[in-house]
Amino acid sequence: MRKQIAAANWKMNCTLQQAKELIDGLINENIRISPDQEVILAVPFPYLMLAKEKLKNINGFKVAAQNCYSQTSGAFTGEVSAVMLQSIGVDYVIIGHSERREIFGEQNKMLSEKVNICFGHGIKPIYCCGEPLQIRENETQNEFVSAQIKEGLFHLNSSQLENFVIAYEPIWAIGTGKTATADQAQEMQAHIRNVLAEKYGNEVAETISILYGGSVKAGNAKGIFGKPDVDGGLVGGASLNLAEFSAIIKSLK
Ligand code: PEP
Repeated sequence: MRKQIAAANWKMNCTLQQAKELIDGLINENIRISPDQEVILAVPFPYLMLAKEKLKNINGFKVAAQNCYSQTSGAFTGEVSAVMLQSIGVDYVIIGHSERREIFGEQNKMLSEKVNICFGHGIKPIYCCGEPLQIRENETQNEFVSAQIKEGLFHLNSSQLENFVIAYEPIWAIGTGKTATADQAQEMQAHIRNVLAEKYGNEVAETISILYGGSVKAGNAKGIFGKPDVDGGLVGGASLNLAEFSAIIKSLK
């Protein structure tokens, strides 16, 4: 069975004290994580080492950065490289979150370079895709998301795509309280898996964890995660609340 994942995207939130409380709180919940499941905490850069240290002996918990730069080192003031993240043992990096695409102008070409740099330094990318509201209203979301997948990932080989992680996040559902229905998530995520299967074959496509993101909460997680092509969630707002995120973890298949 491919991995079922509950990933927390804290975005630009939490003081150090709040970060400690949230991580300690999750540890104290003692949630049983099966070998087919994983919990990923994508915390702000200043708290990565704290998260690594606190979670080092906790089964099933991994740590992610929310971004990295497309070069390994040099005169790029304010950026953080995959080399640096590798040197502190970061497991995953979120690549191409819609906020990076929309606010910081990141495009598929650059994101494909970021994916490469992650692979070059032993860090697993979590590649995000998803359409804006207007594209959904025009009913061209399948073509739009296919292009994000093809332009960002299709240069990779089959072994790189095995056990890869993708997050489908319709932009109109992120932080808006407006969740896609479980059927809408399933429909798009089956489409994404088909696009991958056409290029890499069914066997590889079946190993890829495709997460849904967009206003996932304790109250809707089970219904969404229950769909066959939804392998968990990338959770923003609700991941900052201990009770909510704990319940979301417990909703994984
Ligand atoms: C996200 O940040 O990836 C996200 C899905 O946010 P929210 O859960 O708040 O919609």
